[in-house]
Amino acid sequence: MRIVLIGPPGAGKGTQARFIASKLRIPSMSTGDIFRSHVGRGTSLGRDAKRFMDAGELVPDEITIDMLRERLAERDATNGFLLDGFPRNAAQAQILDEMLAEAGTGLNVVLELTAAEAEIVRRLSGRRQCRAHGHVTHTDLLRDADLCNLCGSRLYQRDDDREEVVRHRLEIYRAQTYPLVGHYTQRNLLVTVRAEGPFDEVTDRAMAALRVLDE
Ligand code: ADP
Ligand code: AMP
Repeated sequence: MRIVLIGPPGAGKGTQARFIASKLRIPSMSTGDIFRSHVGRGTSLGRDAKRFMDAGELVPDEITIDMLRERLAERDATNGFLLDGFPRNAAQAQILDEMLAEAGTGLNVVLELTAAEAEIVRRLSGRRQCRAHGHVTHTDLLRDADLCNLCGSRLYQRDDDREEVVRHRLEIYRAQTYPLVGHYTQRNLLVTVRAEGPFDEVTDRAMAALRVLDE
């Protein structure tokens, strides 16, 4: 299965990507995670990307597309993947199609996750992540305010989860990314799942939607 996950920031894409990818035994790839890893390691790509990320802007296509091309060329991507956070605009969608066509394949499905704006703002303002493994959690779920429930390491708040940046990221999503929902609907690739409610219920709805499409 070659799956694209699409939805506004905070819809739960990264959270669900882990569950779905492990159920389907395919790698999950997040361009945001790859960028954050570069920023953490202080690479030149990370330095280039950071100022766009901190401002809630998209990182320029030439940087993002080259990085994604390299990731898709890795061995584990040959039998399928779940892409979280790419494509985010029309140019990226076109390049992805071209890359897959060159490899003689194409997307099977685009899974859209939706949530009400108030819930998105609640999720993003409480989102916390650990540096050690990139585990994502929420302040409402923590046993200890500063420590990851999963691995016990220290948590941090993403710079781009500050309120004014969140507002800008939502605008960018509406203007540049949301039009892809129409594009993939026309191509008969889109399934939409409501991403509110308990984590496992969202996963169940997503898996049911993917199964329907597979039949
Ligand atoms: P995205 O990758 O779409 O930006 P994340 O997966 O990082 O979103 O989730 C954003 C925040 O919302 C995190 O703090 C996460 O723990 C929380 N979250 C994700 N799914 C749910 C859910 N079904 N119910 C409540 N909170 C959720
Ligand atoms: P995410 O982790 O998906 O919320 O992404 C965090 C940030 O990384 C975004 O706000 C962008 O600055 C950058 N980013 C991630 N994916 C892309 C992409 N496909 N195109 C451009 N920028 C991206």
